[in-house]
Amino acid sequence: EQVRELMASHIDTYQDFPEPGVLFRDITPLLRDPESFHAVIGHWSAILPEQVDLVVGVEARGFVLGAPLAYEMGAGFVPARKAGKLPGAPRSISYDLEYGSAQIEIAVDALPRGARVMVVDDLLATGGTAAATIELVRRFDVELLGVSFLLELEGLGGRDRLPADVPVVTVESVQ
Ligand code: 5GP
Repeated sequence: EQVRELMASHIDTYQDFPEPGVLFRDITPLLRDPESFHAVIGHWSAILPEQVDLVVGVEARGFVLGAPLAYEMGAGFVPARKAGKLPGAPRSISYDLEYGSAQIEIAVDALPRGARVMVVDDLLATGGTAAATIELVRRFDVELLGVSFLLELEGLGGRDRLPADVPVVTVESVQ
């Protein structure tokens, strides 16, 4: 279909970026093409559950995609930020990266009790980022409807690292 073709032609692949051995997918060509950007957000919002109250977007590409998705669905947007960026006393979680660790945070008052939440990021690779975001969101008293990605890289075991009871919605998946 049209969205598949637009994604195939507007996502570039780079060998050995940002480190040797990594095949990096660059989604910025898709973002800068108005027709593709619009078509992808429209399609994506249509395959998500209708009752989403809040989209949680993961810094930084989860912001760029999560905000227009939330707007399109009539939902609000909540940023899950890298450590040290949010004022107040945010809730925080650390997770392991291939080298070292990372920390993400959500403002303590950002997810009200009972809110129906969808976590959004650009890409599912090893699943570490999404697993940590899910764990953090679950510390709030909310209803997690699922986690959603523009692109899933199969073969890195990302899906298997996510809790089995959290629905996963992906626009496209590649090997
Ligand atoms: P994971 O934690 O699943 O290994 O990696 C996913 C996170 O790293 C996402 O936040 C995503 O933005 C970033 N990421 C990992 N690999 C790629 C890639 O090839 N392309 C892009 N655009 N982001 C990536």
